[in-house]
Amino acid sequence: MGFNIAIDGPAGAGKSTIAKKVAKELSFIYVDTGAMYRAIAYYMLQNNVAKDEAAVAKEVENVDVKLAYVDGEQQVLLNGENVSSFIRTEEVGNMASFVAKVSEVRAKLLDLQRNLAKENDIIMDGRDIGTNVLPNADVKVYLTASSEERANRRYKELCEKGISCDRDEIERDIIARDEQDMNREIAPLKQAEDATLIDSSHMTIDEVVAAIIKLK
Ligand code: C5P
Repeated sequence: MGFNIAIDGPAGAGKSTIAKKVAKELSFIYVDTGAMYRAIAYYMLQNNVAKDEAAVAKEVENVDVKLAYVDGEQQVLLNGENVSSFIRTEEVGNMASFVAKVSEVRAKLLDLQRNLAKENDIIMDGRDIGTNVLPNADVKVYLTASSEERANRRYKELCEKGISCDRDEIERDIIARDEQDMNREIAPLKQAEDATLIDSSHMTIDEVVAAIIKLK
């Protein structure tokens, strides 16, 4: 059994940025579970599958998701094709939140996630890691920030990439996605009872990284 750190929290809380840095400092493998849901969402969008739970449940039988690591960076393979560079759009993120409600989708990814944790020292982020995927994780963190702060960070990030966007629309999107993730029937987003809450609204990235490493 590897040493397991679970990080959950709402959209845009900085989970992946933080988890990547912690992984680097501890020489752990970083597992981004959101990318797996995004890969399935991408498949559904590419194949014009309706936003319908039964249709998604049926189509997911044709989907194979695997992870690979290139220079330490996680890559997602969808039916053998590396789709990592196509899954970061808002469209895919919103569809991911829809497909994540479907039990057949979650069941498909659960074993993959648990097996990675069994064999390696990992830091895994998502929405249900501490509550459902790795209930016995050695360290559990619930990382959050105000929706205002999360929207500001996302807006700044997109502006820096030269992508034009509307800040208020980003905040509305974030709130809608959290609502959907917190209120679904299976494995909803919530803080595990034994997780440490970190509100990063007024913290720097390095402060959050240090706080997590201290929990180890
Ligand atoms: O973290 P990211 O934005 O990439 O996640 C995309 C979506 O995948 C989330 O909004 C959520 O609905 C779903 N997800 C999940 N369980 C996880 C990770 C992600 O339901 N462990």
